[in-house]
Amino acid sequence: MSGLDALPPLREVIAAHGLAARKSLGQNFLLDLNLTARIARAAGNLTRADVLEVGPGPGGLTRALLAEGARRVLAVEKDSRCIPALEEIAAACPGRLTIIEGDALEIDPLVHLTAPVKVVANLPYNIGTELLVRWLTPPAWPPFWDSLTLMFQREVAERIVARPGSKAYGRLAILAQWRAEARIVLHLPPGAFTPPPKVSSSVVHLSALPEPRFPADPRILQELIARAFNQRRKMLRSALKGLAPDIEDRLRAAGIAPTDRAETVPLEKFCALARSLAQA
Ligand code: SAM
Repeated sequence: MSGLDALPPLREVIAAHGLAARKSLGQNFLLDLNLTARIARAAGNLTRADVLEVGPGPGGLTRALLAEGARRVLAVEKDSRCIPALEEIAAACPGRLTIIEGDALEIDPLVHLTAPVKVVANLPYNIGTELLVRWLTPPAWPPFWDSLTLMFQREVAERIVARPGSKAYGRLAILAQWRAEARIVLHLPPGAFTPPPKVSSSVVHLSALPEPRFPADPRILQELIARAFNQRRKMLRSALKGLAPDIEDRLRAAGIAPTDRAETVPLEKFCALARSLAQA
């Protein structure tokens, strides 16, 4: 890894390339090499994997992924100012880092990746949830990724791993836990970033399950939970009224009391209700 060791410290890179953080791009950089190494290690063994990194910025986490032995890293960065800094890292690891300048919401990275793929990113907060939902709802399962190791605002991370009965439990918890194993692997205070954001952050690790935990049609389940949690304070018999004329019977058959609220219903019962609605 001598090529990486010879690179200048990140603070120098930021100064040399004029990478003053831009709020509009969600730029809160990680400059502590211990932290970036811990995040890269949380992704598991990278030596036989391609890694997709969204938002590499000046490349702190990118360096850690390469130092941990990632077979290849594909880094998608929207800010053109960061590209020369990333090219210096690519030059230090010939053939292992591919940089794409562009918007991760617009680009299809699949053509550049070979399985198995791990996604690792300190995501810009403004697009983190949208990307996660996309990765959790692909047209077919299993998805293109084996695991996702992602930074979120702590409050979002808690929604991803939430259990029924808690305030944080909702659509994200169900989407994440239906077809993946999700856990928080690291909490970071605002001071871990430059500049510090207003809130704490957490890294969540999700591993794709080969099959969903309980059978259900993905589109029906997604519509069901969207309706159920859009009106989370309402009883399910009214929140889901439009889905089927006999919704109360179907709720009961799935083991759900029509007077229950969405936030108390476990994943298994939502899947049972989705299967019943598939026959409606
Ligand atoms: N990975 C770096 C680190 O840990 O220090 C930077 C993380 S910073 C929170 C988010 C990064 O995502 C920034 O570099 C920002 O320019 C980039 N970014 C923001 N929106 C993006 C988008 N739509 N597509 C790709 N990158 C984006």
